[in-house]
Order: sequence, then structure tokens, then C-alpha cells
Amino acid sequence: MHELSLCANLIEQLEQLAVEAAAAKVGRIELKIGVLSGVEPQLMAAAFGMAQVGTIAENAALFIEVTQPVIHCHDCDHEGEVSPQNLLCPHCGSESTELVAGHELILARVELLGSWPDARVNPL
Ligand SMILES: [Zn+2]
Repeated sequence: MHELSLCANLIEQLEQLAVEAAAAKVGRIELKIGVLSGVEPQLMAAAFGMAQVGTIAENAALFIEVTQPVIHCHDCDHEGEVSPQNLLCPHCGSESTELVAGHELILARVELLGSWPDARVNPL
């Protein structure tokens, strides 16, 4: 499952952030997972539970926010949430839409502990 390799990358990123902030451990992380990202939030949480063992994020609490698809319409300039099954413009019915959210996997927030003062970083 590709969630495992995603988690390995995530842990690497967390270790790098912790080193930069001279933090001892990771307290809490928040991920945003788009419903169209191909990443299964439950699998991601399970994979993280395995990947975090023995790392700086060993006791980190993982929070996942699932984001809905948002499209931008090239014909009428409408931008808004749509159903994952229907990416047509809900305003004018155009197929000429661009997915602006809902396909992402983002590390939205990381809480680092053990540095002084405790650091909160938003790596976006
Ligand atoms: Zn439109």
C-alpha cells in the first residue's frame, strides 16, 4: 500500500523540521487529505502508527482532515465545492473545470516539543 511510503516520507519531513527547530519530539501533526488524492485516510492513519515507532514522532498524535473537491470553472469563473463523482461546474454545467482542491496531501500543521519555547510550524 502506498500509504506506507507516504508515511516514510512524512516521518523524514518531520525529522528534518525537528532538527531545524532543535525540538526533541513531535507532539501533534495535522494532515489534509483530499478525497480525490488517492490516499485512504484510514490506511494513512494505520500506516503512520507503524511508521512512527522508534522515530522522533513516536508519540505524535495524528489528525486528518478530509477535504472535498473544489473546482474553478474556466467558462463562468465559478469556484466552489463539488461532489467527487461530478466535477462539472455546478453553476453553468461546463466541463472546462480545474480542480483547485481535493486532490492534495498536505502536512498542514506540526507541533514540535522539547525546544524552548515549544515551536509550532506551518510548513505550507
Ligand atoms: Zn461554470
